[in-house]
Amino acid sequence: MRAMVVEKPGTPFVLKELPVPEPGPGEAVAKVYTCGAGLTLQHVKAGRSAGKFPLIMGHEVTAIISAVGAGVSGLKEGDAVTIYFYLTCGTCPSCTSGRENLCDNFGGFVGRQVDGAYADYVKLPARNFLKLPDGLNYRQMPGEVGVVTDAIATPYKVIRRARIQPGDTVAIFGAGGGLGSNMILTAKWAGARVIAVDRGKDKLDLARQLGADEVVDVLHNDGLNADVPDQLRAVTDGRGPEVSIDFVSSKWTTETSLASIAKGGRHVVLGGGGDVFSAKTAEFLNRELELIGSRYCTREQVMGSLQLVADGEITPYVGEHFRLEDAEIAHERLEQGIVMGRAVLDINSFD
Ligand SMILES: [Zn+2]
Repeated sequence: MRAMVVEKPGTPFVLKELPVPEPGPGEAVAKVYTCGAGLTLQHVKAGRSAGKFPLIMGHEVTAIISAVGAGVSGLKEGDAVTIYFYLTCGTCPSCTSGRENLCDNFGGFVGRQVDGAYADYVKLPARNFLKLPDGLNYRQMPGEVGVVTDAIATPYKVIRRARIQPGDTVAIFGAGGGLGSNMILTAKWAGARVIAVDRGKDKLDLARQLGADEVVDVLHNDGLNADVPDQLRAVTDGRGPEVSIDFVSSKWTTETSLASIAKGGRHVVLGGGGDVFSAKTAEFLNRELELIGSRYCTREQVMGSLQLVADGEITPYVGEHFRLEDAEIAHERLEQGIVMGRAVLDINSFD
């Protein structure tokens, strides 16, 4: 099989011909049709996040089970599947209390600690394959269906975690990116009014196309726009947004968001490189602000997201397609921050 391998951090992909993996006990192998490419993966490739090298990355797939190992039940050859991103134990208190994303025996990430899906086939613990629900049009839109497991499921979880209600105003920092663009779609589905915050006209135009009600540019005269809090208040009758969802989570975006949100506002942290920020505790007290971390989602939330797409409630936004062999081009664009929406590698076709 073809596989795009990263030999060590900071090096380009190498196209390799490898044997098709064989499933061991409790494992399954799937043929990959499409795989999403996002900034989380680029952080690993560049060496900013940990991974086990040499490495095949990728987890946002539409795939078909091609072989199952001994002891696997509930999954068979021919099943259409996607991948749950986290390697979890299924038995610890977190896993059994509906917070498997916080598994106490966390084994890492598909495509980081074990090989992922930038390849013709992917082998994983069978429980990491989730069967696609009936009615999901995966043959006609495999790229869109494949990214649901992260690019829709992560925003879908944020809706609950930040208690977003119809009529709430939600600011999205990084709204033109792979997750941010799909957060716009998901927040609109939830009935929110959306303010997209990102850099540059192209990303903000995309945000508007996807349904953003207002846009705010973080760039001004080649520098960061110090007026973002004022601009956010100006489009919210002086109150500020009830919820701010920050896919950038840099020091600047965090402090800007906290300075912008309404009384009782919620700031949601996703992604980012672990920046340190400053805030006055009095702000949290006097304005009853909430700081909320939101980390991926549960299997149930992935299934809920897939069902939304099957029901036609949301169609994920995929902005760019690449061949498997062009993964390096996709990742160069991710590194430069110029990919519009989610990028997808088209690896095999249904015929
Ligand atoms: Zn667990």
